[in-house]
Amino acid sequence: MINILIEKCVGCKLCISTCPFDAIKVTNRKAAIQDNCTLCGACVSSCKFEAIDFQKDESEGVSDLTSYKGVWVFGEQKNNMVTQVVTELLGEGRKLADTLSVPLSVVLIGQDVAGQAQSLISYGADQVYLVEHESLKNYNDESYSDIFTQLVKRYKPEIILIGATTYGRSLAPRVSSRLNTGLTADCTGLEIDPETRNLMQTRPAFGGNLMATIICPNHRPQMSTVRPKVMKPMEPDASRTGSVIRPEVNIPVDLKVKVLDVVQTLCEKVNLTEADIIVSGGRGMGDPKNFTLIEQLAAVLGGAVGASRATVDAGWIDYSHQVGQTGKTVGPKVYFACGISGAIQHLAGMSSSDVIIAINKNPDAPIFKVATFGIVGNALEVLPELIREFKARLG
Ligand SMILES: Cc1cc2nc3c(=O)[nH]c(=O)nc-3n(C[C@H](O)[C@H](O)[C@H](O)COP(=O)(O)OP(=O)(O)OC[C@H]3O[C@@H](n4cnc5c(N)ncnc54)[C@H](O)[C@@H]3O)c2cc1C
Ligand code: SF4
Ligand code: SF4
Repeated sequence: MINILIEKCVGCKLCISTCPFDAIKVTNRKAAIQDNCTLCGACVSSCKFEAIDFQKDESEGVSDLTSYKGVWVFGEQKNNMVTQVVTELLGEGRKLADTLSVPLSVVLIGQDVAGQAQSLISYGADQVYLVEHESLKNYNDESYSDIFTQLVKRYKPEIILIGATTYGRSLAPRVSSRLNTGLTADCTGLEIDPETRNLMQTRPAFGGNLMATIICPNHRPQMSTVRPKVMKPMEPDASRTGSVIRPEVNIPVDLKVKVLDVVQTLCEKVNLTEADIIVSGGRGMGDPKNFTLIEQLAAVLGGAVGASRATVDAGWIDYSHQVGQTGKTVGPKVYFACGISGAIQHLAGMSSSDVIIAINKNPDAPIFKVATFGIVGNALEVLPELIREFKARLG
């Protein structure tokens, strides 16, 4: 509950700029809370006159858990194509939905994206909620979170899975805060508690040193983000059938931020999270200019360039290449770790790779514990040999 205590309000307008939702208006020197207030509480401390009376109702949403049914996946798309993390979430969502005996649905927002619906169904969805509009061509925090929230309020899913991508990480907290529910970021394991039917959301905690299982017992929906490449997609089945629902929604106009153009990062020749082969360099490369060896091997193999945080922090390479706990999670067929020690935070982002090839001059480096093949030696000498040999063999 939020109320303006009219007798205390002096109309100073200090609170207006603190509201992220533009939900306070001051007219005739008195503030008033608008209908789009999300009860986030951000404005309360801005009022020096104690004119904002805010009482969070912790029981909100508690009473009606049983009215929430179904598992939802956010159908993130770029250039009208659903991103790979969506198929991975559908694979995991299918298991959860089957355990709960409820439908699995995808929310697909964009422009001219209807063509993706059958593919989503083939990857496990029972239903696709499709919202198309020319203003929704590119992801936009304001409009996407508004529409997503409208749909959740109407259809009441019990679980929502969102990719922990740049867009997903922006959308998920906005939606969860509007719905006054919990959100667990970067989950690595999802299971249903057979007794309570709660979602058990497991994620690394304390720098990856222990795993925490988090539940959201009193609020719905239960929301999780999952990084790309953490879950496995199902094999697509073109014969699967499902329904496409076009719900009526209010398309937000008058947005604060408009996306005028989307440009791809110039250095991003191959998408790291989707690459089959990644060649990563660490501090053992000795100097930023030696990263040309990493780039050359990646180019010969048609792979992407990765990096440890030490090299990103040193300014040798852009953050978009960082692999690990605070970078990207990858799961390529082959991962080359060149001059990378194998700190737990780096392993957190790449240890699910099918084959790991480590080059390190220290035979006791921890990276060798997870490596499929290890080359003990100077990366500056080994890499030119590998480049020469792969060039010769691959033409
Ligand atoms: C909260 C937190 C989050 C973090 N997130 C990440 C993350 O997302 N990603 C990440 O990578 N790190 C992360 N880190 C940092 C991590 O702990 C390590 O510090 C970092 O991974 C080390 O990078 P490195 O292996 O390149 O460097 P170093 O640890 O310095 O290792 C260099 C390696 O190169 C070898 N070497 C040296 N010279 C040569 C040579 N000529 N040829 C071959 N080998 C050579 C050395 O033997 C050594 O093993 C995080 C840390 C914290 C605390
Ligand atoms: S900051 Fe307080 S006193 Fe000033 S307009 Fe807002 S509610 Fe009124
Ligand atoms: S509680 Fe949050 S959304 Fe509501 S008026 Fe205050 S800052 Fe704005």
